Amino acid sequence: MTVEEGELKRAGLKVTVPRLKILEILEASEPRHMSAEDVYRKLMEADESIGLATVYRVLTQFESAGLVERHNFDDGHAVYEMASDEHHDHMVDVDTGNVVEFFDERLEALQRSIVEQHGFELVDHNMVLFVRRPGKKK
Ligand SMILES: [Zn+2]
Repeated sequence: MTVEEGELKRAGLKVTVPRLKILEILEASEPRHMSAEDVYRKLMEADESIGLATVYRVLTQFESAGLVERHNFDDGHAVYEMASDEHHDHMVDVDTGNVVEFFDERLEALQRSIVEQHGFELVDHNMVLFVRRPGKKK
């Protein structure tokens, strides 16, 4: 059994060729955050005949199973990355579309304290900062 097969089984998913191929692509993904179209393009490059509809379906299954996380960095454009135990947030360069990951404990603590002031406990959060290099005009 390969590592990927084990991951699928642990996530409660049957091992199928499309699932295996898509999982391999996401794990090797560079850039780390890929849209369904990006995954589809990689499959085409590797001569895998897996349709875009299947890619969407498998990514949704992966998301439900907790294997991947989905982000919407701009309107309607979802990207996926392998789920990890280590939390991080994102900033997106609005000029290049590049995604930068960051983690700052001050920010985490501040969010927890704000939430507590409102009588809640923090379950999850999703932060995306939209950024631009100084000097770059719109
Ligand atoms: Zn990320």
